[in-house]
Amino acid sequence: MSIHLLRGHERFQAEFATRERTFLKRLSSEDQKPSTLYISCSDSRVIPELLTASRPGELFVVRNVANVVPRAEDPAALSAGAAIEYAVSVLKVPHIVVCGHFGCGGVKAAIAGKDRVRQYPHLHQWLDYVEPAATKAKAAGFVDEELETYAVEENVLDQMLNLISYPCVREAVDAGTLALHAWVYDLDGSLSVYDARSRSFQPYTAQLDRDSERGRLEAEAEAGAEAEAAS
Ligand SMILES: [Zn+2]
Repeated sequence: MSIHLLRGHERFQAEFATRERTFLKRLSSEDQKPSTLYISCSDSRVIPELLTASRPGELFVVRNVANVVPRAEDPAALSAGAAIEYAVSVLKVPHIVVCGHFGCGGVKAAIAGKDRVRQYPHLHQWLDYVEPAATKAKAAGFVDEELETYAVEENVLDQMLNLISYPCVREAVDAGTLALHAWVYDLDGSLSVYDARSRSFQPYTAQLDRDSERGRLEAEAEAGAEAEAAS
């Protein structure tokens, strides 16, 4: 038994659970109402709640090797698909984040060639989902660190496209009740977010967030003015 984890739980009981007794009691007596479906890699260094300073109840989390979202029609979509349908259709989360990360073992394995992990049959097959990003990165002529950076980013964008294959996701996005976000976390503690205007990942800053929000409001205002002119 991993006794150090139970020691950690003792600390959790003595500190957080004691300090937040009222909060935890309320959480246990109400239905969950998370703000975000967060799809991340299983990597031990990319802890969603830690890097977003989230409290219990905020994130509905799916984690697997290389933050993969199999397409809706794929037989392997059962696990992620069930979580996506529940989060979007039942919990009605207003946000989905797909967060990849630099130093991702799954992406590195796809770059190196999945035949190297042929002795691990499940992993070998799983890398089929990551391979297209690695192939695109190589075809674009990137090498070394840039190759990995591009493949990690492309892999996140591939999974974003796969998200749209779920009818519940598409309908909620079209209805304006669900926003999709593509992120890449760097193990040094920094974050890049996909900026739709520049069609690239940009280091996250509060200014980028404000600019993005302003762009969204301007686009909404423009669409509203067009709709008014047309009526
Ligand atoms: Zn990873």
